[in-house]
Amino acid sequence: SKQFGRPINELANQFNMIQSGIAGAERVFEVMDVKPEFDAANGGKELGQVRGEVVFDDVSFSYKKDTPTLKNVSLTAKPGETIALVGPTGAGKTTIVNLLTRFYDIDSGSITIDGEDIRSLEKNSLRQQLGIVLQDAYLFSDTIRENIRYGRLDATDEEVEVAAKLANADSFIHKLPQGYDAQLTAEGGNLSQGQRQLLTIARAILADPAILILDEATSSVDTRTEMHIQEAMNSLMKGRTSFVIAHRLSTIREADQILVLNGGEIIERGNHQELLAAKGFYYNLYTSQFNRAV
Ligand code: ADP
Repeated sequence: SKQFGRPINELANQFNMIQSGIAGAERVFEVMDVKPEFDAANGGKELGQVRGEVVFDDVSFSYKKDTPTLKNVSLTAKPGETIALVGPTGAGKTTIVNLLTRFYDIDSGSITIDGEDIRSLEKNSLRQQLGIVLQDAYLFSDTIRENIRYGRLDATDEEVEVAAKLANADSFIHKLPQGYDAQLTAEGGNLSQGQRQLLTIARAILADPAILILDEATSSVDTRTEMHIQEAMNSLMKGRTSFVIAHRLSTIREADQILVLNGGEIIERGNHQELLAAKGFYYNLYTSQFNRAV
């Protein structure tokens, strides 16, 4: 969804700022936020460490009046489960994650994390439990080490390197003349797209959120890098509730639940085998689209 990719991209940058505790980030949120309909007066309840159960109960939402975007969406993600969101462009995949992060607030129904209605929560503490990895890595001009440490500012050098190893980034970093002290240009332009992604994954591993939102890359990288990224994603997702706007067939196949969206509704759900056997929308999507993917 190129056209509507912006909110979540902006959101991700803000997330990184929030997670790093940089003052002023919350102000950015204030400026950009659509005013929530009800919000506990100035703040709300602090959300501590969560197990990561996410429940959407009959959620409806529209960006504009009279144009419903999501209709009666219900889903339950158990702690640690991978939920793949699939469906055509404009189906509402990005909107689901925009609502979970409270970039927008729902019109009706409820969204809870570990039983807590997210509208009753202090936004910052909600967002600290969420990690976002997008196709366009957000990097800044500093060393590789500091770019990874951005995930958690009090991490030691050793912790940064452990995260890089888990993210499969360690080997390419070691090949750089200055290793972890190599300077990145703004936007990380001197790295390949795949390498930039591995750094964002390392950063997310370091941040250690209970719930992940992943927007998989559609653009092609070489097969070897693709394998590195997939492996790194798997380590990152292990033990975390993950919502994946999925493009890779391998991710979709292994997801605990596939939610098939069309026109703002979940029209089919199940795992890969179940949905293929149903020979419905997913089956058609799969045979027309995904069979060309990895
Ligand atoms: P997907 O991620 O599945 O491609 P989206 O959730 O981005 O779909 O979009 C769902 C619908 O909401 C689309 O019809 C799109 O036009 C609309 N939409 C998305 N973002 C906005 C927005 N910020 N304002 C108005 N309409 C939007």
